[in-house]
Amino acid sequence: MSILIVGSIALDSVITPVEKHDDLLGGSASYAAVSASFFTPVNLVGIVGRDFPPEHLDYFRSREIDLAGVESADGETMRWTGEYEWDLNVRHTRAIALNVFETYSPTIPVGFREPSIVLLANIAPALQSHVLDQIERPGLVIADTMDLWINIANADLMSLLKRVDLLILNDSEARLMTKETSLIRAGRKIQALGPAYVAIKKGEHGCLLFGDGEFFSCGAYPLEDIHDPTGAGDTFAGGFAGYLNSLASAEITFQDLKRAVVYGSVMASFNVEAFSLERLRTLDLAKIEERYRIFKAMSHFEEI
Ligand code: AMP
Repeated sequence: MSILIVGSIALDSVITPVEKHDDLLGGSASYAAVSASFFTPVNLVGIVGRDFPPEHLDYFRSREIDLAGVESADGETMRWTGEYEWDLNVRHTRAIALNVFETYSPTIPVGFREPSIVLLANIAPALQSHVLDQIERPGLVIADTMDLWINIANADLMSLLKRVDLLILNDSEARLMTKETSLIRAGRKIQALGPAYVAIKKGEHGCLLFGDGEFFSCGAYPLEDIHDPTGAGDTFAGGFAGYLNSLASAEITFQDLKRAVVYGSVMASFNVEAFSLERLRTLDLAKIEERYRIFKAMSHFEEI
């Protein structure tokens, strides 16, 4: 059964201390959908403008992503510009034009309304809730968010969290949301807001996963060359959710979630090796499995 993924589809400009690229395929749903597509069929919901290059849609189709839920509206595609410092964990949003997203209200096609898993990639929490209003309660609701919504749409975000099983966010967002310096306390506090599970990403330092009395700490795959961290979080979320959907099991265990964190981390590690979704274009499942094995060998240690 296909996973349902809803989020932004955008054209990005990305500036790093050494490179600048314009008009790149981006958006939270683009990264998440392509990443998930390595594990499971994907139903995508989002909106693009008339200026959106048709070859990007062809690329999605080539990944067997069903685009019946992607609207093409009069107007321009969402555009975003981000600039990184030498510390690539520090990013500044230089410009954002929501364009066709400004008045967008996602409509979920009838055939997409009974997903086993839904991934609400990063968009306004009111839109994420509107998606949940239209679908049968799936096995698992996974949501991603960002600092912007914590700051400007906190009430919407808090009501969304009551309907989410697993929230994915990064360390600074977890601290901002909970006003806690300790990520362990922050994770527990977010669980009390609704989600049974919380995944806190720590960029190049890995990820923490909180469950019901269970906890997992996973490092990040060590990379020598990082070209563009954009979309790492979305690629993580797509790999994480796509892997879980591929299990096609009614009962997801904490062990499954731990494996999903590792697959998500592996997918994010590939994504940052090139700009936009370029690295994902040359990827296949064999390379993903190979990196999973190397990552396991690097992280494994014996009992004393
Ligand atoms: P990440 O690096 O995982 O935070 O995701 C970067 C992607 O998020 C870029 O491709 C942007 O187009 C997209 N993005 C940035 N701001 C927003 C926003 N406010 N709503 C939805 N997507 C956004």
